[in-house]
Amino acid sequence: MPLVSVKELLAKAEEGKYAVGAFNVNNMEIVQAILAAAEAEKAPVIMQASQGAIKYAGIEYIYALANLAASKSTVPMALHLDHGTSFDQCMQCIRYGFTSVMIDGSKLPLEENIALTNKVIEVARATGVSVEAELGKIGGTEDDIHVDEKDAFFTDPEEARYFVEKTGVDALAIAIGTAHGQYKGVPQLDFPRLEKIVGMVKAPIVLHGSSGVPDEAIQEAIRLGVRKVNIDTNIREAFTGACRQVLENNAKEIDPRKVLAPAREAATQIIREKIRVFGSSGRA
Ligand SMILES: [Zn+2]
Repeated sequence: MPLVSVKELLAKAEEGKYAVGAFNVNNMEIVQAILAAAEAEKAPVIMQASQGAIKYAGIEYIYALANLAASKSTVPMALHLDHGTSFDQCMQCIRYGFTSVMIDGSKLPLEENIALTNKVIEVARATGVSVEAELGKIGGTEDDIHVDEKDAFFTDPEEARYFVEKTGVDALAIAIGTAHGQYKGVPQLDFPRLEKIVGMVKAPIVLHGSSGVPDEAIQEAIRLGVRKVNIDTNIREAFTGACRQVLENNAKEIDPRKVLAPAREAATQIIREKIRVFGSSGRA
């Protein structure tokens, strides 16, 4: 089926009280892994590309691969821009056929974040593309974006209510204690804050930096109302770990297919596991 918007997937997730997995793509093998996992689990999924992924693979390749995967699939799939930091980046993705964009104005003062988000929404609405914004600062490193631990701060529920009221954004990423990249210890999520935000905000809530968060904590966040969960680091670990294994076992291997096929399989397995944790298995 054709690519669908994230808004549509999250509305169904709200009805069913589960979360949709948003998995980062960089190359053909990961797109194929997401498709295989989604089909096997009969789950709706979001493929998302960061600005770094777009720089690496080229937007034409990212779009073509994701669009092909969706057209072959029997389950709904969306293509989303992860952490777009400029209006221009969002416009480029909308032009190429992404069905959702994130405008990350979380570094800006509140009113500027609102203004930038509204500027993107104005164009996105006319084209049926959904928009995710971010409020609060999620620590860690996501491709070319780095937020120091000391600069990370949690989302204020009252600000979140105000932000969504002023923008009508389709999804809101919040900071409640997760971080991008690998964790040093076990992350502690601020559930009372999440509960407050969900109670005050009309938009579906997105959890970033969810790799390495214990399954039970993710499930508690979903029970409290998180509807989109982003996974990147877990896929990187599985994918690269499998490549490393092949080369450790046979340092002379020169066939890329012998290295990448097990990596694709490892990515498929971790994505299937996450889909089951998110409760989206069988929801397509
Ligand atoms: Zn993120």
